[in-house]
Amino acid sequence: MAQGSRQSAIRALINVWLKLPTKVCATCDTEYYGGPIECCDMPVISNNQAAFRQFMRELKDVRLSRANNFASNKDKTLRLGLSIPSNLYLFLNTSMRRLYNEKLISEEFDMFWFMRHFPEFQVPEKI
Ligand SMILES: [Zn+2]
Repeated sequence: MAQGSRQSAIRALINVWLKLPTKVCATCDTEYYGGPIECCDMPVISNNQAAFRQFMRELKDVRLSRANNFASNKDKTLRLGLSIPSNLYLFLNTSMRRLYNEKLISEEFDMFWFMRHFPEFQVPEKI
């Protein structure tokens, strides 16, 4: 798949995932199928959209707390990381393989490709 269509395909998949009726714990990312809630100490059962909003709020806090040494170490080398809800990551991985027979992260389209095209998941690494 070409760069541009690959980016649109992943963007479309993210939107599909956001609208899935799946229930998930926003605290620990465990999918919830009903019954007693025993996934973690502070369960918050919500849908993907609400869990995603919560995830983005937390990522923003992480970015703010790292604003002083923004993404660089003492040699001023740029250091970046990827932060993405694990359920979304699994969904994208599976969907890319099933629909396009491609890996989400490959040698050609590595983590840095993903971060450049989906900067909302990019986070400076604490050194
Ligand atoms: Zn939980």
